[in-house]
Amino acid sequence: MLDVESIRKDFPMLNGKTMHDHPLIYLDNGATTLKPQAVIDAVCDYLTHYSGNAHRGDYDLSHEVDERFEDARRLIKDFINAARVEEIVFTSGSTDSLNMIAYGYGLNHLQAGDEILLTVAEHASNTLPWFDVANKVGAIVHYIDLDETGSLTLENVKKAVTEKTKIIAIAEVTNVLGYDAPMKEICNYAHEREIIVVADGAQSVPHQVTDVQASGVDFLAFSGHKMCGPTGVGIMYGKYDLLCETKPTRLGGGSNSRYNSCGVVTLKNPPYKFEAGTPNIEGVIGLGAAVEYLSKIGMDNICAHEKELRQYCIKKMQELDNVEIYNVHSDGAVAFNIKGVFSQDAASLFNTYGIAVRAGQHCAKILDEFLNVSTTLRVSFYFYNTKEEIDQFIEVCKKGDDFLDAFFG
Ligand code: PMP
Repeated sequence: MLDVESIRKDFPMLNGKTMHDHPLIYLDNGATTLKPQAVIDAVCDYLTHYSGNAHRGDYDLSHEVDERFEDARRLIKDFINAARVEEIVFTSGSTDSLNMIAYGYGLNHLQAGDEILLTVAEHASNTLPWFDVANKVGAIVHYIDLDETGSLTLENVKKAVTEKTKIIAIAEVTNVLGYDAPMKEICNYAHEREIIVVADGAQSVPHQVTDVQASGVDFLAFSGHKMCGPTGVGIMYGKYDLLCETKPTRLGGGSNSRYNSCGVVTLKNPPYKFEAGTPNIEGVIGLGAAVEYLSKIGMDNICAHEKELRQYCIKKMQELDNVEIYNVHSDGAVAFNIKGVFSQDAASLFNTYGIAVRAGQHCAKILDEFLNVSTTLRVSFYFYNTKEEIDQFIEVCKKGDDFLDAFFG
């Protein structure tokens, strides 16, 4: 059981921030999350007290930065139970990580005629790089069917795999429908056929226990800002041997151990060969603090609280005639519409009551072919949300019945 009231005190934005004179009710955690004071302090501490560069200096200040920077890497290694700390590569976020995997691994391993499997529920960041890589090498993108609820099943993975399948790139939890993919079963099946599994963890790692050794994923991408950390920092996890076979997509200072004027370059081993240039040091240190903070609360507790909130919200929404829900049974975000109200107009109505919800296609632009609606609203919870906030959200859903009155009245 979480002590949510005391947790909320850790978040400055939950203590005084208003929208339209209402206390902020933040239900857009799929987009980004609020930051606890511990993360803000860690970032400020670096900027205020030891803001040197990392891995470059031979003086105490620089060693202090190196130590904190590598501490963060170790914390993240433990957080996802990676086998080795060298498997944790700092990137600028999930999008960056997925691009590095597609161009660094995919482009160099795929051949004409090979098949890449995605689903229509993938985020643009786990779709567009694969389209481009497929075009470049003459590979083909196919989609694994979702079942009638929008969920990904092992059965449908089996139906989509052929002897030409080389990569399966899927979200562990999708960002609109929120279904949890059976990653371990998919990885077992894929590995028997020497297929590489790329997991988009942007919506899973922040919300549940992640164990890359148990699930067996070959690569995993996630973002710091969706798990209480700063923006502009994320992780590319890869099994060490695969990282050795992956080419860096950026080269520069810090990524090589030697080069000469003839252009002969010796790259460092992972993770450093991928981390050319001065990294986002305050971001990395902030992400380390976020992971410490989340670990103290406990990912199991976080997951259980969010499940309870979701069930409560769905039950309340189902009591309303004017709400259509598209993913009643999933574990993640709730995708819905207020009947007869354009999603962006509805989001503006929520805004006037201090409630932040997301409207649109949520960067999953081919999902509408499955849902048969062009846009949806989305509420997504985090461990600091409460049932009282959901009650207030439900009250505004009711007002959608008489939308114009509610908006202008
Ligand atoms: N994948 C999924 C499933 C996401 O939800 C997001 C963010 N909305 C991304 C990838 C991209 O994350 P970022 O913008 O932090 O790179």
